[in-house]
Amino acid sequence: MEDEKAFALNLALYQGADLGDYINFMVQFRTSLNALKPAEVIALEPIYTVDLVEQMQQLLTNLDPQDIPTFESFAYFEPADVFHDYLEQEATKEKGAFIEVVWIVIGKPKLYNLVHRAWTEHGPQTLAPWMKLAQIVLDGCYGQKWPDSVFQVPDSCPICLTPIHWPQRTQCGHVFHTRCLSQHLDIYHTCPICRASLRDP
Ligand SMILES: [Zn+2]
Ligand SMILES: [Zn+2]
Repeated sequence: MEDEKAFALNLALYQGADLGDYINFMVQFRTSLNALKPAEVIALEPIYTVDLVEQMQQLLTNLDPQDIPTFESFAYFEPADVFHDYLEQEATKEKGAFIEVVWIVIGKPKLYNLVHRAWTEHGPQTLAPWMKLAQIVLDGCYGQKWPDSVFQVPDSCPICLTPIHWPQRTQCGHVFHTRCLSQHLDIYHTCPICRASLRDP
């Protein structure tokens, strides 16, 4: 999986003379990350960003906005639009499985990359502040404005057959992706399921 690939890659690419210490640190970090659970109380999105940037600035200089692990796009876009097969497949599961996968595919790899950079640019690191950052990132992942469908079994779109996180409901009560429905309505003026007239928006 993506997190294990990122872990292995960040070990293989390390060029420092203190490789042994780095490997020890990374192994410990991975064990702690794998055991990490989201906090009981999760801060809302704006607080997340402030805490996150503050903690990152303590660990790394010259932060680039793209270094900052954010998950907004995953809570906002339909899984089908993320262009990631594994995410799309997991999106069909219920009870927040999708969020867990976003953490594995995006959150953990970003953290491994950042640790690698910190060792390269600033020398040996200690685990505590990195675990504090990891907790903020994990909580930030869970703290997004996830649609309810992430916690239930999401409907799948009758047009493209992929999961729907943001359903568009017609007057006749059928649900589709907003985009799939509007493409259909460009050509036809009836519901793809029951053929009820959908001329009025
Ligand atoms: Zn669709
Ligand atoms: Zn219908």
